[in-house]
Amino acid sequence: MTAVKTSLPRRKFDAVIVGAGGAGMRCSLQLAEAGLNVAVLSKVFPTRSHTVAAQGGIGASLGNMSDDSWYWHMFDTVKGSDYLGDQDAIEFMCREAPKVVYELEHFGMPFDRNPDGTIYQRPFGGHTANFGEKPVQRACAAADRTGHALLHTLYQRNVRARTQFFVEWMALDIIRDADGDVVGVTALEMETGEMMVLEAKTTVFATGGAGRIWDASTNAFINTGDGMGMAARAGIPLEDMEFWQFHPTGVAGAGVLVTEGVRGEGGILLNSEGERFMERYAPTLKDLAPRDFVSRSMDQEIKEGRGCGPNKDYVLLKLDHLGADTIMKRLPSIREIAIKFANVDPIKEPIPVVPTIHYQMGGIPTNVYGQVVAPKVPGGASEIVNGMYAIGECACVSVHGANRLGTNSLLDLIVFGRAAGNHIVNSNLKARNHKDLPADGTDLTMARVDKLMTSTSGENVRVVADAIRKGMQYHCGVFRTTELMEAGVTKINDLAKQAEHIHLKDKSKVFNTALVEALELANLQETAKATMVSAAAREESRGAHAHRDFPERDDDKWMRHSLWYSEGNRLDYKPVNLKPLTVETFQPKKRTF
Ligand SMILES: Cc1cc2nc3c(=O)[nH]c(=O)nc-3n(C[C@H](O)[C@H](O)[C@H](O)COP(=O)(O)OP(=O)(O)OC[C@H]3O[C@@H](n4cnc5c(N)ncnc54)[C@H](O)[C@@H]3O)c2cc1C
Repeated sequence: MTAVKTSLPRRKFDAVIVGAGGAGMRCSLQLAEAGLNVAVLSKVFPTRSHTVAAQGGIGASLGNMSDDSWYWHMFDTVKGSDYLGDQDAIEFMCREAPKVVYELEHFGMPFDRNPDGTIYQRPFGGHTANFGEKPVQRACAAADRTGHALLHTLYQRNVRARTQFFVEWMALDIIRDADGDVVGVTALEMETGEMMVLEAKTTVFATGGAGRIWDASTNAFINTGDGMGMAARAGIPLEDMEFWQFHPTGVAGAGVLVTEGVRGEGGILLNSEGERFMERYAPTLKDLAPRDFVSRSMDQEIKEGRGCGPNKDYVLLKLDHLGADTIMKRLPSIREIAIKFANVDPIKEPIPVVPTIHYQMGGIPTNVYGQVVAPKVPGGASEIVNGMYAIGECACVSVHGANRLGTNSLLDLIVFGRAAGNHIVNSNLKARNHKDLPADGTDLTMARVDKLMTSTSGENVRVVADAIRKGMQYHCGVFRTTELMEAGVTKINDLAKQAEHIHLKDKSKVFNTALVEALELANLQETAKATMVSAAAREESRGAHAHRDFPERDDDKWMRHSLWYSEGNRLDYKPVNLKPLTVETFQPKKRTF
């Protein structure tokens, strides 16, 4: 690369955290309270991060309303993951869960309460008592606005701890030195169009998911996979990107989420014949089977002609039998969403719903302390990437494996945000100096931005981004086939090439949202490629990856994590850790519910 000499302004911090969602702010709190100089960057005001939209709850075996134990939670999570989750990380998360939820309570998070004052818990998909016997009440909830309550609590705590927020700042690239260590990021201040280098002894990625690589998504528009894009460009592989969760109940035609908490409270799914079809697919857990199961069952009903509406392309979520009181008290936002987006009042009528893209199980590979671990060369052993952590939805620890259970993401944010924070605090950053910034540290960013700002012709950002979204939706849906996915790889690769030649008409500096969208597209296309290529290669069905040509799970060949590298668009694999920390391995079995 030609060296573009930079005079970008520089600022130094002990730690820079990219992302102010639940994961980023749980981590920053730990650092700021320990007296570290910590900067948190966010594309939007912190409390507008996607975590704010989380509805149903955070999972922890408090046992407030029915017998429960972390061990059952662990069993459910391992089984839910279709045995692709690493069992050491899952044990760690489930054991920590009650502690971190009580901590949130003590931070002032306004959970709903039982008459005896304890935290209210509702049933959720795949969470069971006594190893699958019956649903358990494990989801700690603040009505259907749990993420809202959580994010605001964390923000207030951070303000108190004097965390420095860089609001409407977009991180652009990771800076790695000759040793491969991460020494900071380049970033754009959207308001002014100025760029800056943020140097850090530790950089934490907490950029959330990339649901916007799909056309129909429950995700916020800012979820464009920036963390994955930045990691990929810096030579870090992405793990298990073929596994994307379709949430069973997005409002048909709108994509807006209707929480699984509706079914937790007793809501049921009906087909055009008025039949509660989940009784056929999952006789024990019925509507509360894990999401991959329910989404496939719904898709099947629709494909077999039992969908509802004029085009027979959705099913119905019925909750009027819960009564107006329960709906108003436990599910007030859902009622609002149904009225606004589906034009039905759920107190009287059912809500039309379809499986909608919701969550990425894969991401930047890490250990349980949030440290990024990646082979230096494909095929090599995983090593710690010094100075870099990843937490939350952009990370792959991996606790969700091939399918996440509802409420386990908010838990993941808090458990691993906190664990990464503690690990960083214990690494004695104050005693260390910043490593030198490499001479070419900002070249990549400068070249990318220069190319856009001097472009005279080329592709339109919106057109390319929309084509990627439609392509992903068509070629990588609930059910996948070899033919569909192979054509999808070609299509997404072509679109990724187009994404390299964008013409930016607006060359202004102040709040240039067209520039931001073009920079987001660079990340969107990396994430889409990672997903499409990893999916096309996996010749089995596991969790959310349902392959029509390979309908069975194949543990002999595919009990392994995918690692996708941007360079060469190539794949590698690493073993699943089946060994928990203290208990016996949960041996892979066929999943029935
Ligand atoms: C509608 C909905 C409902 C959900 N309900 C639940 C639930 O009830 N229970 C549950 O467990 N899970 C739920 N989930 C999943 C869960 O909410 C998410 O996985 C989780 O909130 C992600 O948190 P995060 O901290 O990783 O990222 P986010 O909250 O998405 O935050 C990402 C942050 O990164 C910043 N960022 C991104 N790119 C850049 C960049 N380039 N530069 C600077 N900043 C950047 C953003 O500005 C933002 O601050 C739900 C998800 C959705 C979409």
